Amino acid sequence: CGIVAYVGPKDAAPILLEGLQRLEYRGYDSAGLAVVNSRSLKTRKVKGRVADLASVVPARFKGTLGIGHTRWATHGVPSDVNAHPHLDIEERIAVVHNGIIENADELRSRLETDGAVFSSETDTEVLAHLIGRTVKETDSLEEAVRKALNSVVGTYGIAVVDAQRPGEIVVARNGSPIVLGIGEKEMFAASDVAALIRYTRQVVHLEDGELAVLKADGFHTFTSDARETAKEPFTVDWDA
Ligand code: GLU
Repeated sequence: CGIVAYVGPKDAAPILLEGLQRLEYRGYDSAGLAVVNSRSLKTRKVKGRVADLASVVPARFKGTLGIGHTRWATHGVPSDVNAHPHLDIEERIAVVHNGIIENADELRSRLETDGAVFSSETDTEVLAHLIGRTVKETDSLEEAVRKALNSVVGTYGIAVVDAQRPGEIVVARNGSPIVLGIGEKEMFAASDVAALIRYTRQVVHLEDGELAVLKADGFHTFTSDARETAKEPFTVDWDA
């Protein structure tokens, strides 16, 4: 339902929580976040409100790269376990997702045959296992996400982090909006501009079939067939 992502010099968790709060008006049943610190993922997720999530995130939750989500369940009941982010088996990849993966059952049985162990009932978790497997073959997160998505049928806005690459976030859009926010030596992404305007007014909208890599000092965008795209940022002039 709602996505927020941050990479920059600050701790991500407070920014993610604040962004998620701004998306609450859309409705949701659970909330979660993941940050990367010392090449490992730290996640918290709960059924309930963003305030409930905030109350289980420790005051010192270090990590300057992270993703957050508010979930509106489509596959699997609202629960702590089904809340996003979802991780691959090595707990290296974390994914938040809006939308519906239509071939999730088929992908899931293929991945399970291959040794993946699922912890949730969601369609989203197939993305985490798929990307986790692909990243080992490509050694590039953007390539792994791009290739993994080429075997996916359905709608998605996603944000992905890799604990082994603590400087970058990959986002992708197909039928569910993703907007990038450009800051001073920091980058944001969200499913809705409302989550960003407290931090920046310079935004870039992704098109369906487009992906982006965000780093603290900038971003680049490309298509699902690996062609670079040129995007002109525009300035949001409405009030927060
Ligand atoms: N289909 C996913 C799920 O049920 C994402 C739902 C959403 O857009 O929040 O977990």
